[in-house]
Amino acid sequence: MQYRDLPSVEAVLTDLDDIIHTYDRSWVVDLVRSQLKTARELIKSGDQNIKGQDIADGVRDSVKWLTQPVPRQIINATGVVIHTNLGRSPLSEESIESIKQAAIGYSDLELDLSTGRRGSRQAHVQQLLSQLTGAEASLVVNNNASAILLGLSALAFGKSVVVSRGEAVEIGGGFRIPDVLLQSGASLSEVGTTNRTYISDYERAINDDTGAFLKAHASNFRVEGFTASVEPPELVALGTKHGIPVLHDVGSGCFLNTEDYGMAHEPTPQESVRAGVGLTFFSGDKLLGGPQAGIVVGSRSLISVLERHPLARAVRIDKLSLASLTMTLQHYLLNESEKKIPIWRMISASAEDIKDRANLLKEGLEVHSTVVEARSPIGGGSLPGETLPSWVLAIHCAETVGGADRVLNNLRMCDKPVIGRIADEQVLLDPRTVLPEQDADLKRSLRLALSI
Ligand SMILES: *Cc1c(COP(=O)(O)O)cnc(C)c1O
Repeated sequence: MQYRDLPSVEAVLTDLDDIIHTYDRSWVVDLVRSQLKTARELIKSGDQNIKGQDIADGVRDSVKWLTQPVPRQIINATGVVIHTNLGRSPLSEESIESIKQAAIGYSDLELDLSTGRRGSRQAHVQQLLSQLTGAEASLVVNNNASAILLGLSALAFGKSVVVSRGEAVEIGGGFRIPDVLLQSGASLSEVGTTNRTYISDYERAINDDTGAFLKAHASNFRVEGFTASVEPPELVALGTKHGIPVLHDVGSGCFLNTEDYGMAHEPTPQESVRAGVGLTFFSGDKLLGGPQAGIVVGSRSLISVLERHPLARAVRIDKLSLASLTMTLQHYLLNESEKKIPIWRMISASAEDIKDRANLLKEGLEVHSTVVEARSPIGGGSLPGETLPSWVLAIHCAETVGGADRVLNNLRMCDKPVIGRIADEQVLLDPRTVLPEQDADLKRSLRLALSI
């Protein structure tokens, strides 16, 4: 098609009768113009394959894309339990129901029903967190990054914060401990070396300006070999002697003992509290298995400094996340976390069960595929390098349906999109991270992806 053959806006609109009647006309006209512009650019770049019908089809696709619910639900067959790009933790049914209850009507978010006076949105969650971690007080905010920014701003503005060189880390997505420190108005005092830091390094750094010691969990990498770091109890002892609070970013917020699941030890908030750390920071949507949130637990006097800081309001938690977080914490309180919280169900799933599900997925497939042993990484800023024994369905794509990239692409484009991974020209699908109720959809999407 040439420029002169492109249809007029009016001509395209006659093809879009149904859409014009459903949506605002001027919006649809804008979409037609934008499709015509794209077509002109394609023709200019030498594309001869544009057809008149493409313009109206393009508008239909845009309308569909713009009006769908976002983010879309996908099927995570990567085996990565906590995947930041895929929204981290799926929520428990009860937690979803409590979001719905909070959303559907008004709530007592900041009202004390017993007195009729203004209440705090933190009151209930604070009790739960004290019960679960042993901390005197707590504060829940938007996410862990904002919790740390708030903590440093409130306690160390204009002062220096001592950090081990091995812990001046980048967590990902532009979150770097040294940068956040500077943003909070504190200055960084780096001590020790990349692989070894001793208590004497911290001690030598203390001066009149020292506002805090900050420890950060290296949640996305591992240093092996000739290493040394200072554990919280030792740092707390030094801090107490000099009146310097210890802040500890434990990252994933793991309440359970990961060694019980055959993994390395992940530091828990409870351990930090027990060690006497002033403030411990963690996320709600990593190994806690709840919604996005930042949680600070620690001493009442330090928490109250954070509560009074103006940033506290700027980073406060919203009612929907609070509803979901509260329910997630209740699962721990009732000792039902492994049964109710999806990521813990996934982590505790036996390799045999996963193998059975992979075999069911394989049944009736007309391409060469095998069920093989594999490892599921935990992912998402927790337990770096740790994997769980698993089984995957491996689809051998070399000579069949256009190669592994094509199959992976088709899977992503399905109505129920599936995310898998590739190894050795094979597409691997790990049932561990697929919600059981998604098994049927996964099978349908897979058949479709292999047939086109
Ligand atoms: C993930 C992580 C953060 C950031 O937490 P968000 O809740 O994503 O803001 C900070 N510190 C550590 C150690 C982490 O693992």
